[in-house]
Amino acid sequence: MSQTESYIPYGRQWISDDDVDAVVAVLRSDWLTQGPAIDTFEKGLSVLAGGAHAIAVSSATAALHISCLALEVGPGDSVWTSPISFVASSNCALYCGASVDFVDIDPTTMNMSVVRLKEKLISAKAAGKLPKVVIPVHFSGEPCDMEAIAGLASEFGFRIIEDASHAVGGSYLGQPVGSCDYSDITVFSFHPVKIITTAEGGAAMTRDDGLAARLHRLRTHGITRDTAAMVSEPHGPWYYEQLNLGYNYRITDIQAALGTSQLARIEFFIERRHQLADRYDDLLSGMPLRRPVRGDDRISGLHLYVIQLEEASRRLTTFNALRAANIGVNVHYIPIHTQPFYKALGFAMGDFPVAEDYYSRCISLPMHPSLTEDDQDRVIAVLREALG
Ligand SMILES: *Cc1c(COP(=O)(O)O)cnc(C)c1O
Repeated sequence: MSQTESYIPYGRQWISDDDVDAVVAVLRSDWLTQGPAIDTFEKGLSVLAGGAHAIAVSSATAALHISCLALEVGPGDSVWTSPISFVASSNCALYCGASVDFVDIDPTTMNMSVVRLKEKLISAKAAGKLPKVVIPVHFSGEPCDMEAIAGLASEFGFRIIEDASHAVGGSYLGQPVGSCDYSDITVFSFHPVKIITTAEGGAAMTRDDGLAARLHRLRTHGITRDTAAMVSEPHGPWYYEQLNLGYNYRITDIQAALGTSQLARIEFFIERRHQLADRYDDLLSGMPLRRPVRGDDRISGLHLYVIQLEEASRRLTTFNALRAANIGVNVHYIPIHTQPFYKALGFAMGDFPVAEDYYSRCISLPMHPSLTEDDQDRVIAVLREALG
C-alpha cells in the first residue's frame, strides 16, 4: 500500500522564502566570508544562550576540536564521553592526540549516567588516570544532569564541554542550553537535520573571555589582530601574529545569514517538535515499546524521537517494514566503541552493556517541524502492523 506514497525523512530542514532572501542578499553584497553576517549570527546565538560568547565555525566537529584545544587537551590526556553519540563527540579528543574513554548511559534518558560517571571517576582517581575533559552529550535534545556533572567536575577536577548538537533551543533548570552555567564550553551543530541549519555549520559557546579569545584564534589559523594579545609591537597596520597552531574552520557569510534567518523561527521549531512528540506519545501508548522520556525541569530540543522495542529481536523486521513503506526511520547510534576504528584502539563488545542493549532495540521515528499529522499516522499504521 504505502510504497507509492511520498518519502518521509527522519529529519529535514525547513527553508522559508525569508531564508532564501537572506542568502541572496549576501550573494549580492561585498562579503561572502569574514564579513558582517557572521557577527550578526554570533550576536543572535549569544542572545539565544543568555549572553555567552558565540564562536561560529564550519561544523560542530570543528567546534568540538577547537574546544578540546582551547582546554589544552593533548597527548597523555584522557577525554570521556557517551558511547551513544555521533563519532565526532569522541574523535575530537583523538585529533588532539589524547586518549578516549566512555561512560555507559542511563537507561531512562540515554544520556551519560551520572552514577556510572561517579564510579568511574573514583576508580580513575585511585589509578591516577582522571580525565582532563568530560563531554556530556544531550542525546535527542534532552539536557543531561548538568548540575550533578558540574559537581563532579569540581570534586574531581575536570573541565566540561557540552555536546549540545541536538539541544539548540532547549533549556535546563530555566536557563537556555548554551548558557554554559554548568560547563566551560557548549557546542552547537547546524547540520540540516538539526534544530536550525546553516547547511554545514556549528558554534562554540562560552562565558569565559580567555577561552573565547582562544577559540576565535583557533578558528582562523591561530592568528590574532588584537594588539593587546600580541607578543611584539605591531610593525604597522598590516601586522598580525600567529600565536597557536590553528585551522581554517571559518563559517561563511552566506551560511551565517541563513543561520540568523533560521534563528528567528527557533521557538516555533521547538514548539512544533514538542507538539509532534506529544502526539507520538499518545498514538504509541499501549504498543510493545518504550517512548522517550522528557524531564519537567528541562526542555528538550527534540532533535530525535527514539522508540525502543520491548523485543529487540523484532527491531530489524520492524525497521525494514517502515523503510519498505517509504518511511525514513534511522538508528541513533551504533555505539561508538563498537566501531572497527575504536575496536582497534582496544574497545570491545560488552564494554558498555546499557548502551549496547539500547542499540539493539532503538528506532528513530521521523521528527522535524514540517512533519504532518498525516505523516505521523502513516508511521503509526505501519508500526502497528509490524508489531502486530
Ligand atoms: C551532528 C552531530 C555532531 C557533528 O555535527 P557536524 O555539524 O555535522 O559536524 C556532533 N555531535 C553530535 C551529537 C551530533 O549529533
